Amino acid sequence: MPRPLRVLHIASECAPFAKTGGLGDVVGALPKYQRDGGVDARVVLPLYRGIDWAAQARLPFTLTVPMGGGAAFGAAREGRLPGSDAPVYFLEHHHYFDRGGIYGDARGDFGDNVARFTFLCRGAFALARALGFEPDVVHAHDWQAALAPVFVDTTEWGTALHGAATILTIHNMGYQGQFHADALASTGLGWEHYNDRELEHYGALNLLKGGVLRATRVTTVSPTYAREIQTREHGAGLDGVVRSRGRDVVGILNGIDAAVWDPATDRHLAARYSIDDLTGKQACKRALQRAARLPERDDVPVFAVITRLTDQKGIDVLASVLPALLDWEVQLVALGTGDPALERALATAAHHRPDRMAAFLRFDDGLAHQIEAGADFFVMPSRYEPCGMNQLYSLRYGTLPIVHATGGLADTVWPYDATTGRGTGFSFRPLGPRALLDTLGHATWAYYNRREHVEAMRRRAMAQPFGWERAAAEYRDLYLDAYAARRGHGFDG
Ligand code: ADP
Repeated sequence: MPRPLRVLHIASECAPFAKTGGLGDVVGALPKYQRDGGVDARVVLPLYRGIDWAAQARLPFTLTVPMGGGAAFGAAREGRLPGSDAPVYFLEHHHYFDRGGIYGDARGDFGDNVARFTFLCRGAFALARALGFEPDVVHAHDWQAALAPVFVDTTEWGTALHGAATILTIHNMGYQGQFHADALASTGLGWEHYNDRELEHYGALNLLKGGVLRATRVTTVSPTYAREIQTREHGAGLDGVVRSRGRDVVGILNGIDAAVWDPATDRHLAARYSIDDLTGKQACKRALQRAARLPERDDVPVFAVITRLTDQKGIDVLASVLPALLDWEVQLVALGTGDPALERALATAAHHRPDRMAAFLRFDDGLAHQIEAGADFFVMPSRYEPCGMNQLYSLRYGTLPIVHATGGLADTVWPYDATTGRGTGFSFRPLGPRALLDTLGHATWAYYNRREHVEAMRRRAMAQPFGWERAAAEYRDLYLDAYAARRGHGFDG
């Protein structure tokens, strides 16, 4: 029997333990499907305050983690991704991770994030050694883990880890881990690495850049976004750096975790439904209207938004057309937290039209499921969208996405054609109030005048093949390619 490929994921989020967005969904799902495909995938995650510590088994060793100012000492616990045998290792360090937030708190980002995530990366390596787990591939996610490929090439010189191929996945180019140069000291890396072919970018420390330049392969979460981040418009200043990696940059579309997001089994819903019988969706719509204190009517289209309220998501554009939209015979349910100005804009619109709009300004996973199931249309006017998970969930729940055709949204939503009735949703470009309102109007028109098209689109949307199996197979091929590039010979088990 050949041995399985060993993969160590290093990430700052992993659902259901810690999640602020799509990164958590990916790290919480991909390893399960990788294990189903015969890959020994494991995850390393910080042990944050919000995690159930007692439920994770304490491992019988302490970790000595080299850092800039000397060693930091930590412990580790081991759990599993729910419903699978995929190990999740939690790095325990009270000072770094037992705090009231993942990246920051009400006062802003934590001031020692470079040290915290250095501890994550170097702690992951110390843990791998303690476990006797020699990864063939180190798969780092986003800037928080972007130093892992750098450490593999530098501080791990002469250890078994040096032979690992490294993958850096960029889940969002808008977050690069930029810090004052002085923060380099806490990584333990010397100043010889602070130059513009390594960790320096226009006078600041840029962790994502270091990872992009060092990783054996760089991936992002959709084919369109992989092209977009190589342009000035979407590269957020790193487009030239990404372009310099040429064909080593690959886009692999995220999938849906069917154990979590499936209307046929979803425990959060008032009723369950499937492509063969959508009657449960009506009950979900009623339940949503009740929860949102909106009139319980089957004959009105319900639009939905679930999002982090940041500039990226284009909610300012949606807010600007709300007075016009809410003049129509429609309903809108919004769920989101973030930018106070955007929270206010949503609350104000709901306050003016409580019969047509409800705004929930909180993070509520159960409600997110209920909204996906109960709505007719899902609105995503993102300025840019690396992959987007919500439009995938919407498709699976028969809730037609209305999207700005960018990044993963362009790759996954097939726009409605009113003459043939084909499509799985609605899309527009470029992003602006006029185009958004026109498209919301088109969807409203179709709901009232082409109901047979809308119902057929729901079923087509639910049948779209966006599972993780395909993505897991694509990552496996990429790992083998990266392994061969790193070692100079193929992986033969
Ligand atoms: P991003 O990663 O940029 O936030 P994605 O669409 O890829 O965007 O993923 C967002 C994920 O976070 C989805 O699973 C979505 O349901 C969830 N989410 C965002 N905001 C909220 C909220 N306020 N309550 C519950 N879930 C939310």
